[in-house]
Amino acid sequence: MRRTIFTDEHEMFRQAFRQFVEKEITPHHLEWEGDGIVPRSLFTAAGASGFLGMAVPEQYGGGGVGDFRYNLIIGEEVQRSGTGGAGLGLTLHNDICLPYFLSLADDEQKARWLPGICSGELITAIAMTEPGIGSDLASMGTTAIRDGDHYVVNGSKTFITNGINADLVITAVKTDPSQRHKGMSLVVLERGMDGFERGRNLEKVGLHSQDTAELFFNDVQVPVANVLGSEGQGFVHLVHNLPQERLSIAAAGVAAAEAALAWTLEYVNERTAFGQPIAGFQNSRFRLAEMRTEIDLGRVFVDRCVEALNEGELSAEEAAEAKWWCTELQKRVVDTCVQLHGGYGYMLEYPIARAYVDARITTIYGGTTEIMKEIIGRSLGA
Ligand SMILES: Cc1cc2nc3c(=O)[nH]c(=O)nc-3n(C[C@H](O)[C@H](O)[C@H](O)COP(=O)(O)OP(=O)(O)OC[C@H]3O[C@@H](n4cnc5c(N)ncnc54)[C@H](O)[C@@H]3O)c2cc1C
Repeated sequence: MRRTIFTDEHEMFRQAFRQFVEKEITPHHLEWEGDGIVPRSLFTAAGASGFLGMAVPEQYGGGGVGDFRYNLIIGEEVQRSGTGGAGLGLTLHNDICLPYFLSLADDEQKARWLPGICSGELITAIAMTEPGIGSDLASMGTTAIRDGDHYVVNGSKTFITNGINADLVITAVKTDPSQRHKGMSLVVLERGMDGFERGRNLEKVGLHSQDTAELFFNDVQVPVANVLGSEGQGFVHLVHNLPQERLSIAAAGVAAAEAALAWTLEYVNERTAFGQPIAGFQNSRFRLAEMRTEIDLGRVFVDRCVEALNEGELSAEEAAEAKWWCTELQKRVVDTCVQLHGGYGYMLEYPIARAYVDARITTIYGGTTEIMKEIIGRSLGA
């Protein structure tokens, strides 16, 4: 279906980013999948080519254009190339972490951090999840207790994307441990602070080139100047920024499904059984038709959500709808595509196999499908 949201400028940006992926990511992807991490130079290369911080004002080295369609294009192209694991760090940096800096940082913080975020010299992460809590964020145990002009931070986080590479970690803490939501704040922990240690780069089912890590905080002294937004407003800040995070994951889900369908169409037309291409069986045709239909439906909804986000109108409920439905779609589609590939679909040399293992997490991170349905259901008064 013809998409109506892009202009010629977006198409040029897409071509430029596609070339960047072909040159800077695809040739190294298998090596990085083995390494369990991408090199920091991927971020500086992306920054030098204008693919980081598109929404950051030009005075800080950004593109000066707050238009999520550019983010969408980056997310779509990494999925199209089958390098979603390597691309996740970039989309997390642009789509998920940067908005906190843009909307909450004061002038001094912007001057300190935004240029490095745009150049790729400062890699970002956001740390909410702890070993004991994920969905139930308000029960977090990491504390930041004020002591003069700094906070003393203690606790730990886990499953943090970019956890090894990150220089700036937006960390959700309790500045008032006696409170639940109202006791939460966001502080930026920086690489090299005493008592801030990284744990293992966790071994995952998929997304192998993405570093996902544990973080430990032992009496870390964090200057008050590193609070993002207002003390005690951390939960409000998260609620404000999570719709964009969820839309980013939803859009990647639809793009991953589109890529899987394209690889599968090629495969079923080449592979034969019982004297005919696999594509010639009615079952194959019906499954392909179902996937085509559902991907088109998801894409139209995501495109509309992107427009709403650009207009400042995307609600938490709409983002939750997009997140759960599009990632469940991704899971269904890649599973069906593996089936249509037969045994070859289980071999990692085929992109569909990697897409299969990479897809599994998407209905969990960024808020699980169940939590998304809670958000939507509660808004219905249920
Ligand atoms: C690869 C990867 C990357 C990640 N990146 C990050 C990151 O960068 N930053 C970060 O902070 N976190 C990150 N996470 C953590 C992720 O967001 C959490 O795993 C997720 O929010 C779920 O939390 P949990 O794992 O504690 O599961 P739990 O909250 O323990 O949930 C377990 C199950 O119970 C269900 N459940 C929980 N509450 C309810 C309820 N009220 N009603 C119905 N069902 C419920 C859940 O849906 C789930 O099925 C990442 C995780 C992974 C695996």
